[in-house]
Amino acid sequence: MNAFELYNPTKLVFGANMVERLGELVEPYGKRILLVYGGGSIKKSGLFDDVMFQLGRIGAVVHELPGVEPNPRLSTVNKGIEICRAENIEFVLAVGGGSVLDAAKAVAAGALYDGDVWDFTIRKAVIQEALPIGTVLTLAATGSEMNGNSVITNWETKQKRGLGSKHIYPRFSILDPKLTYTVPANQTVNGIVDIMSHVFEQYFTLTTDIPLQERFAESVLLTVIENGEKAIKDGTDYDARANLLLAGTYALNGTLPNGVTTDWATHGIEHEVSAIYDIPHGAGLAIIFPNWMKYVYQERVGKFVQYAVRVWGIDPAGKTDEEIALAGIEATRAYFTRIGAPATLGELEIGDEHLERMADEATQFGPIGSFKQLTKDDVLQILRNSL
Ligand code: NAP
Ligand code: FE
Repeated sequence: MNAFELYNPTKLVFGANMVERLGELVEPYGKRILLVYGGGSIKKSGLFDDVMFQLGRIGAVVHELPGVEPNPRLSTVNKGIEICRAENIEFVLAVGGGSVLDAAKAVAAGALYDGDVWDFTIRKAVIQEALPIGTVLTLAATGSEMNGNSVITNWETKQKRGLGSKHIYPRFSILDPKLTYTVPANQTVNGIVDIMSHVFEQYFTLTTDIPLQERFAESVLLTVIENGEKAIKDGTDYDARANLLLAGTYALNGTLPNGVTTDWATHGIEHEVSAIYDIPHGAGLAIIFPNWMKYVYQERVGKFVQYAVRVWGIDPAGKTDEEIALAGIEATRAYFTRIGAPATLGELEIGDEHLERMADEATQFGPIGSFKQLTKDDVLQILRNSL
């Protein structure tokens, strides 16, 4: 097991109607609030009114940054930064899915930085401080509600990049499973794939003798697989939504990578695809991950055998390790297809025009991944196999 540090300051407030706690949670940070939200789902569901009511009870002065896009854009983040500066914002409140949360984090860091917030993504600057952030999450997917990461897109240069810091962990996140009832089936699917992909990035590792981390990861996967299908079938199944929501948080809140060398190559590749084509992150992952698996499994067949047997219940009797490993990968593909996720880039009308550029960008700082270190040619091959 590798040496590690575990740090997670986010207070999780989980359960039905927990938005009632919003005022009391925000109040210690000040009354001048920037409310960040997306394209309108929170207005349709009534959550916007509930949030405004709770903020009204503490006499908050609320400014708004609406219209955060899925795959949130730098231009929108910059608008939020301007509002923070002009209005002396004390607290940034994100209400929505991962995109809204990520945008809010970038705004919070950018507001206290004397340069271009994009600098944080290209390693030109390191986040030294940020406005405090809180979130009300409406979609199970990214884990952004309990981590210090954000992903934003520079639409002008067609680059999607991450920033991260201990300063942008939410101070609190409110998770009410009922707020996810209105998530449409296709977004529920994208979330399921993203959650499973976060686990894969930390589970497929060359680090050995980590039974606790492996069983944590496998239990998150099994929970998502079971409850994901239930939530797709009945969007108002409280327990299914609750289990999916919590699994999403655990998949990326720092529980799984302790002592483990993690991979993250597939996320890197997917970001290049969604940077150019603006496709949902989960859809891109559903296409690329099984292809990554097929490309790399021979690096450590035993891990893929364990995955196949423990997660998908593949019967190993009479099969070679190779056959078991491949059966697990096929089971992954079959599950994604069964829940309605795409299997090829072609289904999203993506051809081979920009594959070279994507592979270049994905490896601009050198080879990516750790299970197998992928060069530009490897990335290109995985993308070609995904067509
Ligand atoms: P999202 O982009 O935040 O939201 C997708 C869509 O779902 C939006 O159209 C949104 O509508 C809608 N939606 C959200 N909640 C809803 C609800 N309760 N009812 C109805 N519709 C709802 O999706 P996401 O998967 O959570 O976030 C994806 C982004 O996060 C990507 O950019 C991805 O790269 C990034 N990401 C971040 C991390 C991290 O650790 N920070 C990890 C993985 C991925 P409205 O806009 O109208 O609200
Ligand atoms: Fe992700």
